[in-house]
Amino acid sequence: MQHLKQLISTSKGIVITTHKSPDGDAIGSSLGLYNFLKQFNANVSVVVPDAFPDFLNWMPLSNEIIYYDTATEKAKELISKSDLIFSLDYNALNRIGEMGEFISTTNSFKVVIDHHQNPQPFADHYFVDTNCCSTAQLIYEFIEELGELDKMNKAIAECLYCGIMTDTGSFRYPSTTARTHEIIAAFLKLGADGSKIHQEVYDTYSEQRLRLLGFALTNKMKVFKEIGAAYISLSQEELKHFNFKKGDTEGLVNFPLSINGIKFSALITEKENEISLSFRSKDDVYVNEFANKHFNGGGHIYAAGGRTTISLSETIEKLESLLKEIH
Ligand code: 5GP
Ligand code: MN
Repeated sequence: MQHLKQLISTSKGIVITTHKSPDGDAIGSSLGLYNFLKQFNANVSVVVPDAFPDFLNWMPLSNEIIYYDTATEKAKELISKSDLIFSLDYNALNRIGEMGEFISTTNSFKVVIDHHQNPQPFADHYFVDTNCCSTAQLIYEFIEELGELDKMNKAIAECLYCGIMTDTGSFRYPSTTARTHEIIAAFLKLGADGSKIHQEVYDTYSEQRLRLLGFALTNKMKVFKEIGAAYISLSQEELKHFNFKKGDTEGLVNFPLSINGIKFSALITEKENEISLSFRSKDDVYVNEFANKHFNGGGHIYAAGGRTTISLSETIEKLESLLKEIH
């Protein structure tokens, strides 16, 4: 940590990165660390593979984020000139697409701060806890380990609050500990407005997003009560009908788990060039290996994702036949 502390203040360029299709924890962690590091070094930037949902754009300094897919030259220049790169909320370079190939060619000192299983050996330092609820909580612990908690402020606290809130389903998943609540209490003391953050993230739906949720639950959810499983599938045509915007299906995969007896839930979404899958589970059902084995993905025991290039109908067929394995 002493070496890192020195690197942070002497570095000629620091780049904070996070995974593709960034979620609340990815953006919250990145902007939390960004707002923190700016106090030590003026040459810090946040570079992300692609856009994040609008419901995260209230976060302090979110307007300064650089997107690799639309500002590739600028992003490459920042990465090339950096000597310190943070990898937040991911632990394998394939989670950041093409940006990963570019990063692997640099000699920058690489630090992973993450809570996913099976970290891959591409970095120089790992600040990892696979039992931790969120990367945002790990950012707080990282700042604590640096001995710099007095540099925490309201802006950092609000970003990290959002990361913990979204990755714990508002402090309800089993990964939520006493420590999590203590850290949240510290954020509130710094002035973070938890109620406002909940509203920004959960009460800013467009009318069409809410109607898409209704349609998905009424018409597209298939329930297999006897094996405790359910899934929802959505085609491009259906998404377009509801004027789909990035983030509109965020959280949808959790709904089937609220049916009594359902322990496995999947959301199958037809994207432009591939099919993406989200998995959620509870109790004795784990989805990370399932996602890895069958859908080229991974994640956590109770929340994982994957993708495939077979068609939507073939994916549905494949999932239905695999559901026998759950139990
Ligand atoms: P989500 O369903 O919200 O997209 O993802 C759930 C969890 O699984 C997140 O922690 C995410 O990082 C992880 N995840 C999603 N897709 C993949 C993937 O393709 N590979 C791996 N290793 N993890 C994934
Ligand atoms: Mn996370």
